[in-house]
Amino acid sequence: MPAISFCALCSVVSQSAEKDLCVTEKDLLDRIEVIVGDITALSVDAVVNAANESLLGGGGVDGAVHRAAGKDLLAECRTLGGCPTGEARITGGYKLPARHVIHTVGPVWHGGDRREEALLRSAYRNSLRLASENACESVAFPAISTGVYAYPKPAAANVAVSEIATFLRNHKLPKTVVLCAFDETTAELYRSRLAEVQ
Ligand code: ADP
Repeated sequence: MPAISFCALCSVVSQSAEKDLCVTEKDLLDRIEVIVGDITALSVDAVVNAANESLLGGGGVDGAVHRAAGKDLLAECRTLGGCPTGEARITGGYKLPARHVIHTVGPVWHGGDRREEALLRSAYRNSLRLASENACESVAFPAISTGVYAYPKPAAANVAVSEIATFLRNHKLPKTVVLCAFDETTAELYRSRLAEVQ
């Protein structure tokens, strides 16, 4: 039975294995970076791909990741047998500057009453867990589900920032998370959510 401890700085209750890993809020904010750009150009340990359940490529960021990584990425994806919505799978990065691609499947937005928020949270959490388990020090996320899947951008930014902050409070890895917006509006949503993190 693991001991339960309570971090005096951030008030997070954690299990003994990770009790020393809680960070102050300032350290937490230092670990989250917002940029505007093309995620396929980033030299990070892992880039997250907003994939579909087939994991066999698609449009948007998925298409860009597969184009930049080359056909060997698709060959590895074929061996995975797909990925349910809310879960994540890891592959090599091939021709990308990133060492790994973490493929996750966000929910399609149907109006909010089909567990969309829970599934989007789960997509972020499972991606971060894979990054941590694979010793990734840096990981970059696109704005999962906010393109063709039509999740409202402000609500999606809220989910992204809150799930990442919660995970980083309790894990040493990844050390840095990059929120890679493709447009300035999304970046501004991230910045304002980060300003509210406490
Ligand atoms: P989804 O199907 O999960 O909605 P999309 O790829 O359609 O995925 O869009 C997700 C987000 O990724 C959108 O905000 C889109 O603007 C952004 N995006 C598209 N291409 C790139 C890219 N090369 N780098 C970073 N973000 C991208």
